[in-house]
Amino acid sequence: HSRTNRNVRKKARLIHRHAWICGLQCGNGHVVCCACGGGGNGNGDGGANKHCDLCGRATAYTHIPYMDGLVDAYQVPCPYRNFGCARSIAYHSAAEHLDKCAHAPCYCFECAFQGSPASLLRHLTEESGRHCWPMEKIKYQICRPLVVPASEHRLLLVAEEDGRVFLLAVGAGRGAAGVRPVNVVCVRGNVDADARPVYTGVLWVDGPPAAAGHLRSSFQLKGDVANCGVPGEVDMEHGRLHAHVNPEMLHGESKEIHLRICITKFW
Ligand SMILES: [Zn+2]
Ligand SMILES: [Zn+2]
Ligand SMILES: [Zn+2]
Ligand SMILES: [Zn+2]
Repeated sequence: HSRTNRNVRKKARLIHRHAWICGLQCGNGHVVCCACGGGGNGNGDGGANKHCDLCGRATAYTHIPYMDGLVDAYQVPCPYRNFGCARSIAYHSAAEHLDKCAHAPCYCFECAFQGSPASLLRHLTEESGRHCWPMEKIKYQICRPLVVPASEHRLLLVAEEDGRVFLLAVGAGRGAAGVRPVNVVCVRGNVDADARPVYTGVLWVDGPPAAAGHLRSSFQLKGDVANCGVPGEVDMEHGRLHAHVNPEMLHGESKEIHLRICITKFW
């Protein structure tokens, strides 16, 4: 999980969680809070060998006297501007916005790649790329039957209506019981935020055909579709549209899972 941790740390550097005291400027004119740019000691001294996130390299900061005590006026573009956010935010309230910003990026699990769900989709499915995940189009409120092979499976589902990216993840069913976990998530950043729109889903798992005089097993699960910002590290133990499929529900020697998914843009 080191890649994710690094990304989270990078994000944390951009988040400002204390009041503005005074300002510093890097060699290229980027303005930061003195406590952050000064190396966290809050003395506002600036100095050499500091890192400017906007330049992406080491720089020397100088103190800006006229910004002393300037609390609310300074506006900065949202750090997720490159991912499509056009908002300007008061520097001291950046944390509040970043926790809710609809343009928070998603991350690849193996590369340093980060970007919007649409660009992550391109990255993960690129035929010449290193991941080559399969992808299928879906339509909201239309039931899509899918046959999942015995191996661990990742399938990206893209809504034709709005390009929203979902992930169907199915585990291989290792372990003594051979239970296979199934999870359906929406690929977007800010996973804990009260994100809109809300998507709901219905998942059916259909067991193998029953012998004459017996009832074919199937179950249905309904719920919100949870958000996931790092689809390569999707949680297979927890979820909302999430199920554990017993070996009795797998199909014959192939150990396939036959399922149906229907996703709704709820509100
Ligand atoms: Zn600061
Ligand atoms: Zn800079
Ligand atoms: Zn934003
Ligand atoms: Zn990647």
